[in-house]
Amino acid sequence: MIPYGRHSVDEDDVRAVAEVLRGDWLTTGPEVSRFEAELARWTGGVPCLAVTSGTAALHVAYAAAGIGRGDEVVTSPLTFVATAAAAALRGARVVFADVQDDTGNLDPDAVAALVTGRTRAVTAVDYAGHPADYDELRGVADRADATLVGDAAHSLGASYKGRPVGLLADITTFSFFATKTVTTAEGGAVALPHGERHTRAARFRNHGLVRDPAEQRDPGHGGWHQEVHDFGLNYRLPDVLCALGLSQLRRLPAFLARRAELVARYDTLLAGTPGLRLPGRRPYTEPAWHLYPVRVLDGRRREVYDRMRAAGIGVQVNYIPAYWHPVFEDLGYRRGMCPRAEAYYGEELSLPLYPGLTDSQQDQVVESLLTVLH
Ligand SMILES: *Cc1c(COP(=O)(O)O)cnc(C)c1O
Repeated sequence: MIPYGRHSVDEDDVRAVAEVLRGDWLTTGPEVSRFEAELARWTGGVPCLAVTSGTAALHVAYAAAGIGRGDEVVTSPLTFVATAAAAALRGARVVFADVQDDTGNLDPDAVAALVTGRTRAVTAVDYAGHPADYDELRGVADRADATLVGDAAHSLGASYKGRPVGLLADITTFSFFATKTVTTAEGGAVALPHGERHTRAARFRNHGLVRDPAEQRDPGHGGWHQEVHDFGLNYRLPDVLCALGLSQLRRLPAFLARRAELVARYDTLLAGTPGLRLPGRRPYTEPAWHLYPVRVLDGRRREVYDRMRAAGIGVQVNYIPAYWHPVFEDLGYRRGMCPRAEAYYGEELSLPLYPGLTDSQQDQVVESLLTVLH
């Protein structure tokens, strides 16, 4: 089976992890800050906090933004459910705005129509690794006095009008899950500038603990004393995994290049295929392709999915509109709310895309798709 995504772990990655396992630190040690510093080179210098998953990163981001009960968070339904779930877990009401028909990214006009006095955050998702329209979203978020969050689980290494992802939103989140462009097996990160929100994020990652006596309410107990001022969780990414992340980051330029090459080949090999629509792209972006999402027209997506899977091609569908999940249905969300996202979901098929995919395997994917479509 050719999978839709696959990690690439080489001997350097293995050595980096083994070295930490033989050392003094397993959990929080020097690899964490080294990984965070290296990651910040990809976010235009915006400081990064490593956490245990992309979902944890979103939870931290919403905590840092001060999202709580009664607040509204506007986001895209064409995403993994965690983008919305993390906000709901903070007690916020999630408001789903529709996407652009061609990129699948959050439509700034749709967001503008839905912001209210209670909107505290607008969360963009760089679907498939293509940056959202950040200038327009920035305008809408600023007018609403809301925090602009970027779920960049797909788009580490991408840029928009010459600016890197990480520098575009107020708070940006990454995922290092196994299929993502860079992996730590499970892992994630939050990028945000130093300041009050950064402090909140760092504390939330570590049980809310306040260790600096100058910040404590009742200091003077002794060197062991620590306080919790706001509840937090344990979202610390261990040294072992940060070592893997560091090693993977060194390979990121090669990962991005190979993914771009494969995308260009798909574009060429599939151009003009009847019954198929290729992913849209804005000329002012440099995407970091995580997915290659085609649209299968004429109501044939299910058939194409089943037949390609049967032929050993592990195609995938990304994503069921988040509010179609029963948990949102039970909260009163109804189908039909975001028709463009629903149409996108109804036709979407992610073709295999990962650095280890060979040209001949890709040819096999294309041949299988064309055979099924004919
Ligand atoms: C993968 C992903 C997440 C969640 O990341 P995990 O590391 O799996 O928790 C969130 N949002 C999007 C868009 C994702 O693709």
